[in-house]
Amino acid sequence: MKNWPSRSWLDQEGRKGGASTPLAIIWPCTLSPSSYVAAGKDVVVPTQQCPQCLGWLMRWGGYWRWLRASLLVERIWIRRGRCSVCRRSHALLPDLVLARRLDEVEVIGQGLALKAADVRGLRPIAEHLGVPHTTVRTWWRRFRMHSSMMRTHCTALAVTLDGNHVMLSTTGERAALEALGAAWQRAEVRFGERVGRVWAFWSRISSGQALGANTTSPWAGKSGVDWMVPSAFGGSGP
Ligand SMILES: [Zn+2]
Repeated sequence: MKNWPSRSWLDQEGRKGGASTPLAIIWPCTLSPSSYVAAGKDVVVPTQQCPQCLGWLMRWGGYWRWLRASLLVERIWIRRGRCSVCRRSHALLPDLVLARRLDEVEVIGQGLALKAADVRGLRPIAEHLGVPHTTVRTWWRRFRMHSSMMRTHCTALAVTLDGNHVMLSTTGERAALEALGAAWQRAEVRFGERVGRVWAFWSRISSGQALGANTTSPWAGKSGVDWMVPSAFGGSGP
């Protein structure tokens, strides 16, 4: 067994509280978890803009955190960027993850979708995914806490994307997933493949806070398409 993740990685991104601790920026990452691990500190992060003032972020070190994905538990390097204008610094998380969650977002999403479909209990789902059942329980608890806000946000985003209203055929947690699916599909129609997979999309539109401790803020300020920031795809910037 490797050195198991210490508590410290939990405290480095998306910490709630003080104004000096901004949310992480989630960037679209085309690397697989193993390729991201292999890149180490050389991981290439597209230049990002400051969410507060739109200034360009300059490289500003980084930190290690753990990532658990299929057949893999490794440390990954998270770059930080510092705004050239307002000087705030931000953690630049790949959309492979959520802030403060050890597991790859794809794995988390699969677990939630299975639970929402209600065909399996938490323990079989956890076994299927190869994670502790208490972990899946925590995901589900947080997801339920966020589901109403998530449904509202995703529905609004879907409407913003193509102007048509959204008809949901379910309620509760399933409706939140259905709304996410609608927003994702419309985003794909509008932006094409670069939208990426649905769970990576979920991470980006929630600023990595989709399962955060705080239900009031994660989806705020994302009513448009600012989660598709041009800097993520256009050139290297300064
Ligand atoms: Zn700034």
